[in-house]
Amino acid sequence: MKNQEDFNHLQLIKGVYQPSQLNEAILGKLKKKKKDILTSDNYLDGIKNGDRNILAQAITLIESNLTRHKDISAQIVDKCLPLSGNSVRIGITGVPGVGKSTFIEAIGSLLTEMGNKVAVLAIDPSSNRSRGSILGDKTRMQKLAVDKNAFIRPSPSAGTSGGVARKTRETIILCEAAGFNIIFVETVGVGQSEIAVHSMVDVFLLLMLAGAGDELQGIKRGIMEMADMLVLNKSDDVTKSQLNRAVSNYTNALHLIPSAIQGWTTPVEYCSSISGFNMDKIWTLISGFVNYSKNKHHFYKNRQEQAKYWFYESLNHELNSLFYNNPLIKKQLARYEQLLTENSINPFDAANLLLNFYLKINQQTEK
Ligand code: GDP
Repeated sequence: MKNQEDFNHLQLIKGVYQPSQLNEAILGKLKKKKKDILTSDNYLDGIKNGDRNILAQAITLIESNLTRHKDISAQIVDKCLPLSGNSVRIGITGVPGVGKSTFIEAIGSLLTEMGNKVAVLAIDPSSNRSRGSILGDKTRMQKLAVDKNAFIRPSPSAGTSGGVARKTRETIILCEAAGFNIIFVETVGVGQSEIAVHSMVDVFLLLMLAGAGDELQGIKRGIMEMADMLVLNKSDDVTKSQLNRAVSNYTNALHLIPSAIQGWTTPVEYCSSISGFNMDKIWTLISGFVNYSKNKHHFYKNRQEQAKYWFYESLNHELNSLFYNNPLIKKQLARYEQLLTENSINPFDAANLLLNFYLKINQQTEK
């Protein structure tokens, strides 16, 4: 009997249910996701309802280089288009280290506190990383990253040239449809992305330093011309007299450069993104420019011009890829390159012959 009791104690008793180490809710969603392929209407509904996961998934589709994602992402963009446009799009440029992300963190937090919904996008054409660029780094924009009224999206990785910026422009449309009323687009690469960013924003803000020796800090005149305002960051790092001198030097330099809108004098202001000093003043400058631009009927005209710019950019991109990805052209390219190295043809004739060949093969396939 005693033995039997001991044995009973050794019996396995039904224990408490041990959950899996993975969160079951997430596991369920993951399993479900594989089966359920959302339609463009599902995405639209999610975006309209401000569902950030759906928004992020839709952006991933836009950024995808897979042909099977092309149709659905185009449909999503088309459906979001009528809901877009109601935001202020602000481009932020400046050399690496000037404080662009710290600045966006500071002004972005101020804006969400004021009740705005802020999206932060970036363009980094030099990025070859598969999962976005520096902005993806969690140490940047720590406050905005956990702000429920902010949405931060890293730069898409560079696929085909010209493709990255187009994807960011489409992302703007989706963010606007999701209700974000202030969109920051930050340039990450130097000297390559300024034109692309400038052609998708309403306000272009150039961030510089007051203390740096070189007056223009390697910023090209062309970029100064694009700037609607110049902000000297890290004002906490220099003396008041250095600041005043820098403001007057830059103001004088800008006087010699035509501004984006007739009659607009490109202002020079300073701030500290670390302490938040003058952030409210910078926002007043930005909204002042937007009002001026609207009053001068420049704001919407500029957006129309930008739409034309992207129309041609897109055409060029598609034509390029149609031509260079054609297998017959690929063969001919190699042949002409060889002829050129042998000096048996001149480059212009070679280009003309190849274009005529391309037109001919297209005509034949049409028949
Ligand atoms: P980005 O490369 O232009 O995006 O520059 P970051 O925002 O990453 O800033 C570069 C460095 O400058 C970081 O160490 C920041 O902490 C610092 N920084 C940014 N803004 C300020 C500022 O207003 N004052 C000071 N003292 N440092 C700043």
